[in-house]
Amino acid sequence: MASNSIKTIAILGSTGSIGVSTLEVVAAFPERYRVVSLTAGSNIALLKQQIRQFRPEVVALANESVVQQLRDELSDDCPEILTGVDGLVSCATHPAADMVVSAIVGAAGLVPTMAAVRAGKDIALANKEILVAAGELFMDEVARRGVRLIPVDSEHSAIFQSLAGQRGQDVRRLILTASGGPFRNNSLADLQSVRLADALAHPNWEMGQKITIDSATMMNKGLEVIEARWLFNLPAEQIAVHIHPQSIVHSLVEYCDGAVLAQLGIPDMKTPIAYALSWPERLPLKQKPLDLCRCADLSFSEPDIQRFACLGLAYQALGIGGTCPAVMNAANEIAVAAFLEEKISFLQIPEIITRVMDIHMPITITELEQVLVADNWGRQQASALITEGVR
Ligand code: NAD
Ligand code: MG
Repeated sequence: MASNSIKTIAILGSTGSIGVSTLEVVAAFPERYRVVSLTAGSNIALLKQQIRQFRPEVVALANESVVQQLRDELSDDCPEILTGVDGLVSCATHPAADMVVSAIVGAAGLVPTMAAVRAGKDIALANKEILVAAGELFMDEVARRGVRLIPVDSEHSAIFQSLAGQRGQDVRRLILTASGGPFRNNSLADLQSVRLADALAHPNWEMGQKITIDSATMMNKGLEVIEARWLFNLPAEQIAVHIHPQSIVHSLVEYCDGAVLAQLGIPDMKTPIAYALSWPERLPLKQKPLDLCRCADLSFSEPDIQRFACLGLAYQALGIGGTCPAVMNAANEIAVAAFLEEKISFLQIPEIITRVMDIHMPITITELEQVLVADNWGRQQASALITEGVR
């Protein structure tokens, strides 16, 4: 797309942390971007503001019960309002959209984002659970349709940038950095009794609740290893994780001659979001510059999978393959939701995922329906464990 033409975008999950940051970038460059469609779960107060500011042609709400209220509140200003999965798919495949920003949290984003790929839309991908649940299938579809898939996740954006102009066969390994979350220095005994409020207090990033808990358990890094496996087509053995508490080096690529390329910046998702929207150009964002002379320290260490079992579970699921990562992801979504409702303890999150993975009989994935069945099965098993009281 030439820089002087307007790119039209659909945003799936516009009321979330990534959705809001995306709209901030859009608002800063009105001559470059126009919003065609927005989707939200149930936050109609925020969606209403977004509709008034960005004038989408169509919106979709996951929660049908609030549709009438939104319609009443907007009255004459109301765009078309759709609901359910069909509504999400219509927004994702809107004929006027050039690019879809996939920023729903969890496997709920899989069907609409896959539909967007099938409709030939370029994708800015934040929703990592899609690649965890259906990585190979999704990447095959991306290749078949010839669409552009640009990562939004900061680590994957860093790797994408560090791979530019290089040859794939020269890559020795990818190194994903991880802040280590709020419990980086806690003992396993301490982790027994962590409180929800502490788990929600991420040291460096402000994000949605689910990914914030995933960061505290380090499942987020596990999901990102699987995401990297499919985005960059490298086996797990070539994907390492380093703890880097300052979140300045967003990730690195090591080459066969020993050279290591990295992308650095302040921890603000607007930079990778803007890059995904504007690639291969860069937008003149008004970001606080990174002042390395004022960074007291940049440190790196190895992760500890004894304390952060979720990271090990993700490598294990990737090794098993087939429907196993989809089931792991589903169990994690249910366990995290239960932790957020204070129904289970922090360490019961990996315990539930382990139990569900242990009883899963993985199958090879050849079609989307198998992923949806596995996802549903994983959710049911995890929910049953929680209802029974886990033990
Ligand atoms: P969030 O919880 O803040 O927002 C999620 C959005 O999805 C909201 O608009 C919500 O209404 C919508 N949504 C939730 N469940 C839905 C459902 N069942 N059907 C339809 N819509 C639904 O989440 P977030 O932090 O913005 O994260 C979004 C995705 O981006 C996640 O996959 C996350 O891992 C990834 N990501 C986020 C960040 C970040 O900084 N927040 C960074 C990297 C990657
Ligand atoms: Mg990330």
